[in-house]
Amino acid sequence: MLNRPIIVFIRKSWILGAIITLIILVLGAGSLKLTSVFSSGLKDKVIVIDPGHGGADPGAQNSGIKEKDVNLDISLRLGKVLESKGCKVILTREVDKDFFLPGFVKGRMAKRAELDNRINIATENNADLFISVHANSFSKRNSYGMETYYHLKSSSGKALAEKIHEQLTQVQPDNKRKAKAGDYYIINQEEIPAVIVEVGFISNPKERKLLLSEDYRNSVANAIGTGVEQFFTAFPMGVRESSPTVAQDGPPLISDNTYKLYFANDNLENLVPEDRQINPSVWPKLDLAQKASLVMSELIQGPLSSKLIPTIAPTTKILSVTTQNGLVTIDFSKDIRDQFPGGALEESMTIRSIIWSMTQIPGINSVRILVNGEFGESIGGHILLDRTFSPQLGV
Ligand SMILES: [Zn+2]
Repeated sequence: MLNRPIIVFIRKSWILGAIITLIILVLGAGSLKLTSVFSSGLKDKVIVIDPGHGGADPGAQNSGIKEKDVNLDISLRLGKVLESKGCKVILTREVDKDFFLPGFVKGRMAKRAELDNRINIATENNADLFISVHANSFSKRNSYGMETYYHLKSSSGKALAEKIHEQLTQVQPDNKRKAKAGDYYIINQEEIPAVIVEVGFISNPKERKLLLSEDYRNSVANAIGTGVEQFFTAFPMGVRESSPTVAQDGPPLISDNTYKLYFANDNLENLVPEDRQINPSVWPKLDLAQKASLVMSELIQGPLSSKLIPTIAPTTKILSVTTQNGLVTIDFSKDIRDQFPGGALEESMTIRSIIWSMTQIPGINSVRILVNGEFGESIGGHILLDRTFSPQLGV
């Protein structure tokens, strides 16, 4: 009889203690969480750095330099910079390797699997940021300048790209390029701010020389690191996603007697139209697929003006053209991919030149691009041809 109340008392105090401990734990965890949300800087941020290409995929090449090697070296330097600021850094690759499935370097869905494996590293590690490092190349040697891309649907990617690009222009004060929206697969991630940094043109003799120097590579890595730091300082609570819209018009429809072919200007910044005369005794008799085929074969032949840049390798053949409900499907020979010399920017110009040249034809409003009969291929490894393109949908 005497023991009981004591036991009850002990039990009560044990329960009370447990409740108090639980309250402390909950409050403690809460305040920890608050601290981490409000702390500025880079402490404990998880940054995934993705050196573009690698292994069987060299990326752009020029004068014996391979994009994959430049990307890897600058990524390793960037990793050290970010680690010194307190970040946890994960590289998608630290050596010369790729993520193709064994035996599937080319062909249907190969590139998608390759890029997905890189993206998965960021998702599996709950990354706070994803930075893909690439280098450009272009047939015109005078094109130069670092570039930063965000996905056209990502507000946080845009904010990050702007902070990084601001720093890059301090390394390269004559850089007139701006952080730009792009439709590149590797940065199309819903929850993680993601950017592509194009560290320069290996096709430009001056920039190539810079890119080969350790000092310059360090400056680029430091600039990206500072940009990342400023992003977290400016947006400690993250950036609200509001799907920034990229205003993009389609091409004007064909007038009575001329149509336009769209080529790149010599700094890869715009598409520039060049007029071709319509043969009035032939054109009206062509069906839609024949019209598309005629315009496309002229696009492949290239521009007349030496100031404009061809967007498709001239050896490329058209294997077939079909149309259905406003959609044109063009099957190109693999030259469009195998003879492609450039980087991400030139690739987007190639695809846009095809879309614009096609959708000026009344009755055609979207385009599908096949390579050697395959859907889901990629011309330069940055944009997947696994969907239907229209001029309003980016690229
Ligand atoms: Zn690349």
